[in-house]
Amino acid sequence: VINNRGKAREHLMAILRDLENLSGNQQLSPETLNAVAEAMNLPQSTVAGFVGFYTMFSTRPRAKFLIRVCKSGPCHVMGARTIFDYVEKHLGISPGQTTADGLFHLEACECLGICSVAPAMMINYDLHGNLTEERIATILDGYRSREPFFGEACGPEVEGRVCMLDEPGQTQRLTEKIGSIDPLSVDSYLEKGGYAAIKKALAEYQPDDVIAIVKDSGLRGRGGAGFPAGVKWSFLPKGDMQKYVICNADEGEPGTYKDRILMEENPHGLLEGMMLCGYATGATVGYIYIRGEYRRSIERLQRAIDQAREKGILGDNIFGSSFRFDIFIKEGGGAYVCGEESSLMNSMEGKRGYPRFRPPFPAGAGFLAKPSNVNNVETYASVPMIIEKGAAWYKSVGLETCTGTKLYCLSGKLNRTGLVEMPMGTTLREIIETFGKGIKNGKTFKFAQVGGSAGGILGPELMDLPLDIDSTIKAGVTLGSGVVLVCDEDTCPVDFLLDVLNFFEHESCGQCVPCRVGTRQLHHLARKFATGTAVPGDLDLMVEKAKLMKNSLCALGQSPILPITTMLKYFREDFLRHCDPSLCCPECANSLAHYYRGH
Ligand code: SF4
Repeated sequence: VINNRGKAREHLMAILRDLENLSGNQQLSPETLNAVAEAMNLPQSTVAGFVGFYTMFSTRPRAKFLIRVCKSGPCHVMGARTIFDYVEKHLGISPGQTTADGLFHLEACECLGICSVAPAMMINYDLHGNLTEERIATILDGYRSREPFFGEACGPEVEGRVCMLDEPGQTQRLTEKIGSIDPLSVDSYLEKGGYAAIKKALAEYQPDDVIAIVKDSGLRGRGGAGFPAGVKWSFLPKGDMQKYVICNADEGEPGTYKDRILMEENPHGLLEGMMLCGYATGATVGYIYIRGEYRRSIERLQRAIDQAREKGILGDNIFGSSFRFDIFIKEGGGAYVCGEESSLMNSMEGKRGYPRFRPPFPAGAGFLAKPSNVNNVETYASVPMIIEKGAAWYKSVGLETCTGTKLYCLSGKLNRTGLVEMPMGTTLREIIETFGKGIKNGKTFKFAQVGGSAGGILGPELMDLPLDIDSTIKAGVTLGSGVVLVCDEDTCPVDFLLDVLNFFEHESCGQCVPCRVGTRQLHHLARKFATGTAVPGDLDLMVEKAKLMKNSLCALGQSPILPITTMLKYFREDFLRHCDPSLCCPECANSLAHYYRGH
């Protein structure tokens, strides 16, 4: 395995993943880790520390089939707790346990990125959504006669209605090719005009022209921060030094699944966007860092890269020019914090995914201390159409300061859930009513969390809020990555916030005190409300502690304040009612009974 992958430390993640798959019980034993350390000339503690950081690895034996049940926001709202009940009923195991025959091991996990079909689980790398008791029984029985498989995730269970292509009224630009091209074929992409933008750039534009067009288009990063992409590209130093184009495909924000769909259904579109960035900035190598759970994305992108190399689209003298560029894939290991760009680069280097102190910024010293540009999938995938059709065309939709379209990820208690592409600034009402077809089972809207777990809570009075980067910030929330998680009258705000704060405690990397201690204390306070042991003063205490976390090193530690304060703005009374143990609600009791047992 090591000879295949290479001995450099940056290959550590891939080597360990291969060894885990070969183990037969998805274990990285201490003996294996020591052997890896010796062969790669790394301290044993380095390898052990690396494995301990990433939740997808285990040094303890697991099983032939590893069942990971998602408990993040959308799955939580859609009944993830009952999924544990069903698995327990069928297999007789709780989270953390293995069946006596060594066939199944059960774990709780955070977002799997198939939120439109929540509740969901992953078995090895197969994704299963829309779970019910009957489906779980059938699915698990099907595995008894199967050999373990670690390849591309099987599709039928998740395909369903993940992308609302058939829903009229959308402005389909990023999703235009989805459904009309074969994502497994470079020829299909070429037939539909694929790689025309990079050809055009090489023939007609100097690198600075490309940057100028991207700047003029007003494209802002779609990962959450909303920084202008062209301006970011211009920060990379000029000259012939080694530079990198890095794609952040570590889509871990609960409720987000747009990048997965772009990578699976139009992989060449992402490659072309990265190539344009490489040409514009003078970088010759690109990396796509994909979360380890996204097996299908990894395999489809690798196939696309191989095909592009065979056709001479990646490599030297691309389309007869002097431009050379190649792209490689790096896998994540199950750590939400690696979505932060500096921790992502540490992870790419074979280290624990700790966020770095800044400066230096990636444009000066990024991957392997070389100048690097980091954008996410949706951002890079937007660039080919900008180059092909021009900046004026791109900004003909959206808002003046927030141009183009946005991919919104609908999940939760809606009649229809899935991916929708609309101009930036489409209102929450339009998204919910036109595309979500209203609230499920005729219930009433209670609130929506927009932007993922780190996002704010929007009550009914904000139904007409334009969902764009600036309007959401002005309203005291955030667009984030475009999550729209809708909750109905049955959702308990205390139980919802408990799940959010449990998530942050679980995902804190522990590097800095405000976040390490703060996430734990906030989770503890939420549990007090959930168990009827809180006092009214705990509400202010929770806000005070979240404010202190503003001093945290990275965005993760600075995030809990938003869901807490926005939730309390609407539902303070619900929290006060939970201070009375006799009024404690079954939702909270249910969560406590499920997620904290054997986990
Ligand atoms: Fe780690 Fe949290 Fe500090 Fe970020 S804020 S570096 S996640 S401990």
